[in-house]
Amino acid sequence: MPRPPRPSELARRRAKNRADDAARQYARAKYGYCVTCGATGEGVVLQWAHLLPGGVEVTRYDKKNFAQQCSGCNMLHEHQPQRYTLWFLHHYGLDAYEELCAKHNVGMSGGNKMRTEDFIRIALDLEVRARRLNDGEREDG
Ligand SMILES: [Zn+2]
Repeated sequence: MPRPPRPSELARRRAKNRADDAARQYARAKYGYCVTCGATGEGVVLQWAHLLPGGVEVTRYDKKNFAQQCSGCNMLHEHQPQRYTLWFLHHYGLDAYEELCAKHNVGMSGGNKMRTEDFIRIALDLEVRARRLNDGEREDG
């Protein structure tokens, strides 16, 4: 039988789940449409979607590295990343793309490990931002 997770590992997982939920709420509040095809409305399933793979924690919650895509575009992204990449470049510019790639590469090589308190800090920030957007406040970027 596998050994039960340590309390610190459970706390980390819980904090990460909360950060994921907060990021989804934020993306829903900010976009509400597919950034690559524009789909919105009834019957469209919008998903939390990452430009650079969300498996790298340090860029998983970077507000520039995620948005919303419809399920079809999100599925296509793996084979046609240029669609979302072009949206990003038009929206944020090349400097931002280079910055995001550099941050992602550090994360891929094991740098900037996320701790439980990092997930909680991110969750709190995104929860507040989502609430403000839902209250009708505008956000730059
Ligand atoms: Zn789409």
